[in-house]
Amino acid sequence: MRKRLLAILTVAIVLAPPGAGRARAFARTGETESAFSIGATRSRADAPVEYPVIVVAIDGVRPREIFDGEDPTFVKRRPLRSAKELTPNIHALGVEGHLLGKDERVTASGPNYVSLPGYTEMFSGARAVHCTTNECGRTQVPTIVDAMADHGQRAAVVTSWERICLAAAMDESKLDATCGRNHGTLDSEGDGTLDSLVDAAKTMGPGPGHDDYRPDAATAEIALRVLETKHPDFLFVGLGDTDEHAHQGNYDGYVSALTQADSFVGELRGRLGWLGERGQKTTIIVVTDHGRAANFRDHGGATPESRFGFMLVSGPLVARGTGPGTDVSLGDVGRGAGKLLGLPAESNAFNRWISARL
Ligand SMILES: [Zn+2]
Repeated sequence: MRKRLLAILTVAIVLAPPGAGRARAFARTGETESAFSIGATRSRADAPVEYPVIVVAIDGVRPREIFDGEDPTFVKRRPLRSAKELTPNIHALGVEGHLLGKDERVTASGPNYVSLPGYTEMFSGARAVHCTTNECGRTQVPTIVDAMADHGQRAAVVTSWERICLAAAMDESKLDATCGRNHGTLDSEGDGTLDSLVDAAKTMGPGPGHDDYRPDAATAEIALRVLETKHPDFLFVGLGDTDEHAHQGNYDGYVSALTQADSFVGELRGRLGWLGERGQKTTIIVVTDHGRAANFRDHGGATPESRFGFMLVSGPLVARGTGPGTDVSLGDVGRGAGKLLGLPAESNAFNRWISARL
């Protein structure tokens, strides 16, 4: 998450556009900044969606550890762990669904491969043209969360990094979220256990992050409680210990955080089993916001290799035994989830693939 000074200096001249925009093409670039328009329809469902979606974003994970296991450059005094030993749950779900990032490339659209542009791309379903640094502020275009609120659907966002709340919704009043230890407003709906989990995390330190960061262990516990008690149609969980350890050059910390994130994916899968038909109809997407530079510690526009990530998709509507047959971008997270949730969504190869059995 931590930006590089050079990256700030090189992009500091890019200013946020004036005023809040709806989904629109900016004249200068001709590029649509959001896949989601709001206010376009008055048809509100106000009922649970048939096919819920859970997105788990694990910050700054390069494909190397997901597909090839531990890197011998950084592991000297113990046996190397294989990919399936590091992330057994992701690989198990990949058998039922599909793990992208090797045959099909998964890329952040950049051009600055840092976190807030990456999350903005996921939530808006389009390249974050006007968010190029971690300081870009609240998204200026509608997101999947804005569109869901407009359709009477329920989204919840639970993240370790406080700034993900800025990417999640253009209209903060529509955001049901807890980001970092003190950002966002989560409606516990009277669940005292959920309140106490959120409050207990406020007394923790930010380590391995900084500022208002909330450690992944606390975020994971809150997210599981939100799933069980609030039954959101769309749940976005953001874990970040991986990136924090990587910036510190702590490879063991990075792989340990990745393994814990994978355990959380396993926990999610188990909880979905208890949710009956609704659980069976839920699609899980596991993704990263950017990869890493060749030196492992860094990422950003100066290191183009850090645009490569991975994506796991597992759900009842995903085409069996095949991938989307195309490279995908972080925007496909939002666009694909929107398609499954019944929001107006463009037809592309990824969307046809993720909903093929509909
Ligand atoms: Zn970072």
